[in-house]
Order: sequence, then structure tokens, then C-alpha cells
Amino acid sequence: MTASGGGEGTGLYVHVPFCARACPYCDFDFVVGRRPAIDRYVAGIERELDARAAALGGPPATLYLGGGTPSLLGVDGLRRLTEAIERRLPGAGARERTVEVNPEHVDDALVHGLRDMRFDRASIGVQTLDPAGLRALGRVHGEAEAEAAIARLADAGLRVSADLIIGWPGQREDSLARDVERLLAAGAEHVSVYCLTIEAGTPWPKLVRRGLRVLPDPDAQAAMLALSESLLVAAGLRHYEVASYARPGQEARHNLLYWTWGDFLGIGPSAASASHGVDGALVRASNPRGLDAWLAGGAPEVDRLEPREAAIEGLWVGLRRLDGIDVERYLGRFPAVDRCWLEERVGRQIGRGNLEWAEAGRVLRVAPGRWFWHDSIAGDLLG
Ligand code: SF4
Repeated sequence: MTASGGGEGTGLYVHVPFCARACPYCDFDFVVGRRPAIDRYVAGIERELDARAAALGGPPATLYLGGGTPSLLGVDGLRRLTEAIERRLPGAGARERTVEVNPEHVDDALVHGLRDMRFDRASIGVQTLDPAGLRALGRVHGEAEAEAAIARLADAGLRVSADLIIGWPGQREDSLARDVERLLAAGAEHVSVYCLTIEAGTPWPKLVRRGLRVLPDPDAQAAMLALSESLLVAAGLRHYEVASYARPGQEARHNLLYWTWGDFLGIGPSAASASHGVDGALVRASNPRGLDAWLAGGAPEVDRLEPREAAIEGLWVGLRRLDGIDVERYLGRFPAVDRCWLEERVGRQIGRGNLEWAEAGRVLRVAPGRWFWHDSIAGDLLG
């Protein structure tokens, strides 16, 4: 890493590639099995940290254990993993330490263990509290179990973020309204909202062919996306990123690093890293996908964006934040471009009313109500 992480330090992402079973919509990188290969996995993490941790130039400000299902490692496995990180990067995650958990793993022992390991934030994969939705999405946990897990984490002082999948076939508006109400009542202060998307290669298309599932309806999904925003905002959360809502002060600091062009190191199978050069170039690296391929020591796939390409990519990333891009900071991060270039680049989308200048031109942002089209706006800027 050659530059500091966008002014907020650097981040470390650790991918934990184990799940108890496969959810039919999921195309993340995971292996299924009730007994994760913890010894081999932790040894692989230690090897990779030994080889790459120095690139961070010091302890990362944020630490994020994602997956897969990190909580499947249990307290002992998580302790081994965090100790391996701490030994090489003492003080890692002082600004935020997040772990992803599944509701069925959250008991008192796990919660106390997480506190002991100085995790201060848990991202819980709830997806819905509607029994019909839980069945459709192939989730193993029950609705009450998920609510109790959120409450247990929040009561122990962890900041809780809940993932919500919307637009599953058959979802009704009142079901989504109840989901939002119950997640917040249980103690979630951050909600990430994702539309159900069906990727080729996941089990869902096969289930469709066998008549056991249907594909989501894009119009119904659009309506649910709009409804989720109005419900969450009415409940006092701020819509601060295309897919993210938070009570004041509860924003995901690790993720904010991504959206403000921070440097981060990703270790574990399929984990991605990014490093910005002082000239504005961006080097991205992706680890081999699959536990065995990663354990075999395959080199990351490296992709270098030249300074101008990186600046365009930086627009896409930065515009995910609904507060928009701080133009001075952006130009500091991508010195190969200047304000004239920026004005020309975004002119068409400004003309269409999709982007706007704010704060006397100091901020460039997606116009109110246009976040829905972030991908197509950003796609036009890339072209
Ligand atoms: S959604 Fe989560 S628990 Fe389900 S298969 Fe994907 S990573 Fe595993």
C-alpha cells in the first residue's frame, strides 16, 4: 500500500469461507460442512498475513470478518483467528471491529467471546423475519431466533447491523413493514438492504426448472426497494449509501473506507484488496476463489488501473454515498484529473438531473430520489 486509506486509515477484510449449508440464492465463496477445516484455514491465514500484512504499513483502523459464516467457527475458532491477526497486527481494528454472524449461532457464549475479542459491531444475516420468506430463501433460523440474537448482541453493547433481502417472490408490503419494525425493535441500528438477485450457477435456477421456485419480479422489487427506503427513513435511519441505512453515528466505518477510496487488504479465499498510489493509480488484487485453490497458494489476480481509469472508477465508488463526493478530497486522491475534467465527465448526467452539485460546488452527488439508478448513472460515467 502506498498511500493512507483516504484519510481514515486502512482496513483489513478476512474472508471466512465456511457455511453449514448453501442458501439457494448465494454465490459467495464458501464450502459447506458442519466441521470447518479450522486448522488448515488458520494456518493459511497466518501464511498470508506473514506475506502481506506489512503492505498495510501499520495496524488497520478497521477489521471485518466476513464470509461465508464467520460465527460457524465458534468462539474457539474465532479466537484463534483474531489472535493470529493480533500477533501480526497488534491493535488491528481500533476504529471498528466487525464480525458477520448468523442468528442460529448467537448464544451467550458467543456474545461474551466477541466482547472479549473486542468486537464492537456484528453484522447479522437475518434476510427476513417472515416464515414464508425464510423458507423461500432456505434460511435455517427462525424468526424469533433472529430477533433474540439481535437483542442479545445489542444488550451486550455490540452495534448491530441486520441484512435484509427484499423482493423475494411472494413478499408483500405488510411483510416488509413488519420486518423493518421488528428488526429495529430488537435493536438493529444499521440495516443493509439487498434485492434478491439470482445468479447463474446458484441452486435457485435449478429449483426454478424443477418448479420449486420462481424468479423475482423486477417491478415488485422496485416497489419494495422504494418502500424499504420510506420505512427505514420514517423510523429515523439515514439512507447514507445506496444499500445502507443507519441511525446517526452507526454508519459502517469499514465500508465507508471502500466508498472514500481507502486502502484495504483482503485475505482469505476470494478476498479483494485495493491500494492507491500517490499518482492516483489503483492496484486491485483478488485472491483465488475456493478454499483449496487459496490454500494451494495461488497468487492473487492483479489488476492495475492507470490514474485516469482509477479516477473514473473512483466516481462510481464515491457516488454510492448519498452525501456525495467531497470534490477537493477526490481530486487529492486522483491527482491525474482536475475540476475541468470532472465537470466535463459528469456533464451529461447533471443535464439529465441524475447528478447535482451541492454546497457551492464542493460536493458532487446523486440527485435526491435518483439513487435507485446509481448503477446506470455510474455505468454512463465509466463509458
Ligand atoms: S447467504 Fe450467507 S449463510 Fe447462506 S450460503 Fe451465502 S454466505 Fe452462507
